[in-house]
Amino acid sequence: MLDMHVHLTGHEDRLATAETIREFLEQARQVGLKEIGFADHDYYYQDLDLPLIRKVANEYPDLKVSIGLEVDYRPEEEEKIRALLRQFPFDFVIGSVHEVNRWIFDLPEAEPMHHQRDADKMYEEYFSWVELAAASGLFTTLGHFDLIKLFGVRPQTDVLSLADAALTRIQEKGLVVELNTAGRYKPVGEYYPEAKIIRDIQRRGIPMTLGSDAHQAGHVGRDLDLASQLLKECGIKECTGFNQGEKIYYCL
Ligand SMILES: [Zn+2]
Ligand SMILES: [Zn+2]
Repeated sequence: MLDMHVHLTGHEDRLATAETIREFLEQARQVGLKEIGFADHDYYYQDLDLPLIRKVANEYPDLKVSIGLEVDYRPEEEEKIRALLRQFPFDFVIGSVHEVNRWIFDLPEAEPMHHQRDADKMYEEYFSWVELAAASGLFTTLGHFDLIKLFGVRPQTDVLSLADAALTRIQEKGLVVELNTAGRYKPVGEYYPEAKIIRDIQRRGIPMTLGSDAHQAGHVGRDLDLASQLLKECGIKECTGFNQGEKIYYCL
C-alpha cells in the first residue's frame, strides 16, 4: 500500500524537523506502507527542508520515501509554478484545483455559495481548470479529481460527461489520478473521485494512486485499505508510486 499525499507541516501546524519527519515515517511503517509521498502545499515551500527528509529517510530503508509537492493550480501562474518546480528534483508533483476564477471554493465559508450557484456551471468551470492543469504539463498527478463536490452539491448533468474533457487530457498527458480518502471527512462523505468516475478512469487505462491527504502523522494511511479494496472492485490492479518523476507500479 502507498500513501502519496501527505502534508508534513499541515497548515503550518508544525515545523519540518527530523522529529516530525520520524513521526510520519513511524506511522507509515506501522500501517505497512511500501511508499510514502510527502506533498506539502506549494505556498509553504520556503519553510520546508526537503534534504532533511532525504536524510531522515535513510533511517527507514524498508520504506520508499518520495518527495513531492501539492501545487495550487491557477492558469495565469504556470510560469511561476514552472520556476518553483525547478528548485528541487521532485519525485512527483500533485496539481490541485482549490480555486476557480478567484473563488477559493473549498473553505467552510464557501459553502453557502455552493448552494446558491448553478451546479452544472460550477462543475463545468471547475473541470475546465482541471483540464488546463492536466494540459499544462507541470504535474505528474491530479489531486482530488472531483473536489468541487465537497459540500454535497451534485450537477444535473451526468458527472462523466462534465469530467470527460479533463479525463481525456489527463490520459493524453500521462497523468496519474489519486484516490483521495479525505473526502470521507467532508460534508460529501465519499472518496475523491467517486466510484463511477474510478470505473471510467479504469476503462480509459489511466493509472491511479492512493492518498490520505493527511495533515498530521496519525492520519497517514487513513482508510487506504478500504480504498485499495474499492480500486480492486473497479478492476484496477496496480497503484502508482514515483521515483524522480518516473512511475513505479505496485500490485494492489
Ligand atoms: Zn488539496
Ligand atoms: Zn493535500
